[in-house]
Amino acid sequence: MATKLEYIWLDGYKPTQSLRSKTKIEKDFSGKLEDCPYWSFDGSSTEQAPGGSSDCVLKPVFICPDPQRKEAYLVMCEVLTSTHEPHPSNGRATIEDDDNDFWFGFEQEYFLWDPETSKPLGFPAAGYPSPQGPYYCSVGAQNAFGREIVEEHLDACLDAGLNVEGINAEVAAGQWEFQIFAKGAKEAGDQIWMARYLLERIGEDYGVSINWHCKPLGSLDWNGSGMHANFSNTTLRTAGSKETYDIICEAFRPAIEEHIAVYGADNHLRLTGKHETASITDFSFGVSDRGASIRIPLYTVEKGWNGYLEDRRPNSAADPYKVAAVIIKTVKSAKV
Ligand code: ADP
Ligand code: MN
Ligand code: MN
Ligand code: MN
Repeated sequence: MATKLEYIWLDGYKPTQSLRSKTKIEKDFSGKLEDCPYWSFDGSSTEQAPGGSSDCVLKPVFICPDPQRKEAYLVMCEVLTSTHEPHPSNGRATIEDDDNDFWFGFEQEYFLWDPETSKPLGFPAAGYPSPQGPYYCSVGAQNAFGREIVEEHLDACLDAGLNVEGINAEVAAGQWEFQIFAKGAKEAGDQIWMARYLLERIGEDYGVSINWHCKPLGSLDWNGSGMHANFSNTTLRTAGSKETYDIICEAFRPAIEEHIAVYGADNHLRLTGKHETASITDFSFGVSDRGASIRIPLYTVEKGWNGYLEDRRPNSAADPYKVAAVIIKTVKSAKV
């Protein structure tokens, strides 16, 4: 039997990498990751290699059923150079979480976008819909736009075995969110990228594109899109101490620039101090504070300082691998 394996990877575009994929047919495929062979692609077409020496290598790292194709799987890959070193564009290889002690829950926001009008679904061709207010978690054709795409995406993710924890309509018209949680930073990143892939592909059927930009409506009074990173390790899950949380949060303060560098392009347009964000140049943390850089969820305090933290700064276009890598580095640097 012929099986379709969709090999998926991230290209080398800066500052925002995009998904690329191509199909490999395998005979009598077992369904297992270890039976996915390495493959290669033309890196000169993806800003990952010069034309004279163009081969880059695809190393399969995550597999799940492809819910939308017959006899098919989706295969997330890391990009290696021709000598099998991690390519500079390979953020996944920079994650130092070998024992999967770090758990991540990413809240991916995005806009469903009409490529004809270059506006979100729900926006009239000329002018604007009613101001923000009624759209968040809304129901009804007046306020919720594109639900059929969102629902199809949710089912596709669940059928693929991705650990989606929820979805909701967001604050701006045509803006939505899904949440994915995984134990292990690499796995969380893999699942977010797979979910992004499925969303992009489903959008094709509707002639709707996905706008991952963090502030697609500019400086107007419309929310931007984030990808809040909720994270914990054994220390955070079992600290039982406010002081431990303070020390870990303080470790983020001297690393503002290192974090912002990988928290997504154009984040200065989004982290303005308005629309439930903190200013990009400040660092703050606080219990339940949605205007802080890092929010300490009430859950964590109610459980006696055993829980997780939410870094609210990563934006919708950030690479979850790079976000996880820098958070892990900073948490490990804290002297607790
Ligand atoms: P909100 O919109 O209030 O910020 P959400 O419910 O959208 O919150 O997202 C919260 C996220 O936190 C979920 O993705 C969930 O998986 C994640 N989360 C919960 N507990 C932990 C934990 N111990 N470690 C890491 N992430 C967690
Ligand atoms: Mn949320
Ligand atoms: Mn949200
Ligand atoms: Mn959040």
